[in-house]
Amino acid sequence: MKIQSNEKIKNLKDKVKGQIVLPGDPNYNDVREIWNAMIDRRPAVIVQCAEADDVPHAIAYARDNGLEISIRGGGHNIAGSALCNNGVVIDFSSMRAVKVVAQKRRAYVEPGATLGDFDKAVQAHGLATPVGINSTTGIAGLTLGGGFGWLTRKYGMTVDSLISAAMVTADGRKIQVSEDENPDLFWAIRGGGGNFGIVTEFEFALHPVGPEILAGLIVFPVDQAKQVLENYREFVKSAPEELSIWVVLRKAPPLPFLPVHVHGKEVVVLAIFYAGDIAEGEKLIDPLRRFGNAYGEHVGAQPYVQWQQAFDPLLTPGARNYWKSHNFIELRDGALDSIIEFVGKIPFPQCEIFLGLIAGAANRVSSNAMAYGHRDAKFVLNVHGRWDEAAQDETGMAWARAFFKASAPYASAGAYVNFMTEDEGDRVAAAYGVNYARLKQVKKKYDPKNIFHNNQNITA
Ligand SMILES: Cc1cc2nc3c(=O)[nH]c(=O)nc-3n(C[C@H](O)[C@H](O)[C@H](O)COP(=O)(O)OP(=O)(O)OC[C@H]3O[C@@H](n4cnc5c(N)ncnc54)[C@H](O)[C@@H]3O)c2cc1C
Repeated sequence: MKIQSNEKIKNLKDKVKGQIVLPGDPNYNDVREIWNAMIDRRPAVIVQCAEADDVPHAIAYARDNGLEISIRGGGHNIAGSALCNNGVVIDFSSMRAVKVVAQKRRAYVEPGATLGDFDKAVQAHGLATPVGINSTTGIAGLTLGGGFGWLTRKYGMTVDSLISAAMVTADGRKIQVSEDENPDLFWAIRGGGGNFGIVTEFEFALHPVGPEILAGLIVFPVDQAKQVLENYREFVKSAPEELSIWVVLRKAPPLPFLPVHVHGKEVVVLAIFYAGDIAEGEKLIDPLRRFGNAYGEHVGAQPYVQWQQAFDPLLTPGARNYWKSHNFIELRDGALDSIIEFVGKIPFPQCEIFLGLIAGAANRVSSNAMAYGHRDAKFVLNVHGRWDEAAQDETGMAWARAFFKASAPYASAGAYVNFMTEDEGDRVAAAYGVNYARLKQVKKKYDPKNIFHNNQNITA
């Protein structure tokens, strides 16, 4: 650990409005904790920014002292890229404001805002934009990698609603990026991650949603998985884009609407979301009940913000998490078979396989319109290995890797950069796909020394 001199730290403290947290401070361990407990890194300095003007000082401090930089939004990245050992963490967890201009259907969002902060603020005006399914995820990392959720079928990826951003560049300049200002950089940050500079504010377009939507779960026994998945595959081909259905396969948590004997058994769950007229949605989803003989269901009208938190209890911070992910253009029989095989081998109760449906608006954007280029992807599959003890790492990771390998022949070439773990350096080019060469050029222009390298890194 490089101990920073008192004088240098005092100098930095004098310059920034936010807090500086150092090893030895009573809150150091709390502040350096992130969502994935598998990541344990000890930064030399954590700058908890209070305003955008703190950012150039933090960058200058790192540069002048030969320290690397990492950027923390919501701290959810599975690879743990929010943290670095011995370096400077530029931490936005104190900058979480979301300002809404309802008449213009715009939101101006600070980079430490969580999805929960965002949804709450915009839903006060009956508005939303597509973001992920766990309310404690950071809007910053999610957006910069692409971003998808329940509204993606209807309104596209999160980046498709990004209008502009305020940024600080590697050389400490504050700039705006949009279609009109620094358009090359605006193109790159919409899917290229934190490779190019630090975003200090996002401007999003908002869309009318809810505030009540129809959503919930229908839970089937795993021995009906084949028929449920085949019916699902057929049904979603013609389902309207207001309707999003994801499939989750796991051991049943103790949900109150399930009989006790089902708790802990492998199940197939249809997670349903309909952002339209509730009565119309009820009619639309009725056939799902006949995909098999369900153990139970819990579906009904509820506030959008409530559904946006529905999975939080299964995704709390503090567990050890290891993911592997594929994109799919179609669900071939082999893909379904491999899913079913590996659900039967789930090693620990919190592990799951999920299949997110994103077909719709996201597919109508051209693959080079912005850095996020996987416009052919209709499903995103994630195998979510999750457990509590380090001693379980080997078994859990082996399961996730074996499933990833078994399902690979049926996947498309792309990968979702936001779902990649730290050991997937060999997939970086695939993750940036058709846009990789152009991303390298932008990287060369804005960050030639690669000071922003704690990410799925693009090297010039
Ligand atoms: C439980 C869970 C559920 C998820 N569900 C979804 C989902 O439904 N849909 C989806 O699309 N994704 C989902 N994700 C993935 C998520 O999009 C990524 O983990 C994302 O990186 C999280 O962003 P963050 O700000 O919380 O992460 P952090 O770890 O804080 O940041 C990740 C990286 O983003 C970059 N970054 C962060 N802030 C900035 C900034 N201000 N300027 C420049 N670069 C920055 C940095 O490179 C940083 O290392 C989920 C993740 C988790 C853990």
